[in-house]
Formats: sequence, C-alpha cells, structure tokens
Amino acid sequence: MSYICEVCNGMAPLTGICPECNHPLEDQGKLSDFYGPYSPYRPADDLKITNGYLDVKQHRCIHLANCPDCSHSYLVFVRERH
Ligand SMILES: [Zn+2]
Ligand SMILES: [Zn+2]
Repeated sequence: MSYICEVCNGMAPLTGICPECNHPLEDQGKLSDFYGPYSPYRPADDLKITNGYLDVKQHRCIHLANCPDCSHSYLVFVRERH
C-alpha cells in the first residue's frame, strides 16, 4: 500500500495561513524537490531524515510554502493518504 500526497498530485490545494499576516500561503512544492537540485546524490527519503523530519513513517509530505505578502517561508506538513 503506497501513500500519496493530494497536494503533489493536484487533488487538493495546499491549505496554510501565514501566522504573521494571515494571508493564504502559496505552495512552493515538495521540500525534497526544492532541495533536490542542490543535493543530487541524496535519495528523497534520506533527505527527509537528515533534515530532521522523520515523516516517512508518519506519512507526511513536507511542502515548502511561501507567504506572498510578507515573504516568510514555512514548512507545511501534508497528511498523505492511500
Ligand atoms: Zn506533497
Ligand atoms: Zn505573511
């Protein structure tokens, strides 16, 4: 049984609110994709662990989100489902 992230698959929008100014956050993509170009030799799962986010067992897809208003970046944990 494999889990999918609805945001990555375009099935659901990323929902997040900027705690600074209450603007809706814009999805910047998966964190592992974001860091991918800078870490070409690391598999995604290893990247998650080395970042300190043990989301593999918890089935969370970590997205980087950006507030268009104050330009803060946040990590949004999207629950994956099967
Ligand atoms: Zn995702
Ligand atoms: Zn903001």
